[in-house]
Amino acid sequence: MEKMSIMEEGSLKKVLIITGGSRGIGAATARLAAQSGYAVCISYLRNKAAASAVVDEILKAGGEAIALAADVSVEAEVVRLFEQVDEALGAVTALVNNAGVLEEHMRVEQMDAGRLSRVLSTNVIGSFLCAREAVRRMSSANGGAGGAIVNVSSAAARLGSPNEYVDYAASKGAIDTFTLGLAQEVAAEGIRVNAVRPGVIYTDIHASGGEPDRVDRVKGAVPMQRGGTAEEVANAILWLLSDEASYSTGALLDVAGGR
Ligand code: NAP
Repeated sequence: MEKMSIMEEGSLKKVLIITGGSRGIGAATARLAAQSGYAVCISYLRNKAAASAVVDEILKAGGEAIALAADVSVEAEVVRLFEQVDEALGAVTALVNNAGVLEEHMRVEQMDAGRLSRVLSTNVIGSFLCAREAVRRMSSANGGAGGAIVNVSSAAARLGSPNEYVDYAASKGAIDTFTLGLAQEVAAEGIRVNAVRPGVIYTDIHASGGEPDRVDRVKGAVPMQRGGTAEEVANAILWLLSDEASYSTGALLDVAGGR
């Protein structure tokens, strides 16, 4: 890929922040975005080696990328993340709120406040804080040049995830509502806000629930009879970010094999 594709003459440099870009859907999105001409910042929580490997891959292919550690649930770290990107890459034009967590499978009656707080603060508060920083920079009302935000929700938002993680499903329900509300708030300020709702996708997240092979167990319940790949979700995210989706905002796009 030539550097030229990153910033065509006279056009705005495309700068994308992907939270949780070290692994899974975020890493696949980072690779595809770099191929599509974005300068990419991936954030991660702890896994510096994985984040650096994604960046190295992009750099080797001629793209532009950096990795920064930032816990999206900590306000000061989110503020610093965006300031570092301002310095290193320039004004952000796109955000993918991808960082998300789930915990061990259990029923609601077993969940304590610590767990609920961890899941909701990363999945919901983290997405709000990152979107806030993005809107402050992108909104034409603040002198920005506009932009696009994609929130990574889940099919769990409409399925509820009984006996597994209702807390996680509820956090994704909040993301859907957040997407609808923010999209309308900033629609006249040059910012589009959409969400993807992946179904069961082959990534590490299922190990956090205590069942690394969960996708293979549940894929029979998917009309397409298979799990999805991180790349299939990344394709949908990149489309929503792109000008091809110029009249789409407030959309919740299922990427779930018909589930
Ligand atoms: P994953 O493989 O477990 O990767 C999670 C990523 O999020 C990692 O990069 C991790 O960083 C980062 N992260 C976790 N907590 C963070 C925090 N507090 N601050 C910043 N980064 C944090 O997950 P995935 O399956 O790709 O999931 C990505 C998104 O898709 C999530 O929002 C998830 O809910 C959603 N989703 C996934 C599926 C699925 O079946 N996989 C289905 C529907 C929706 P480290 O590497 O440093 O830990």
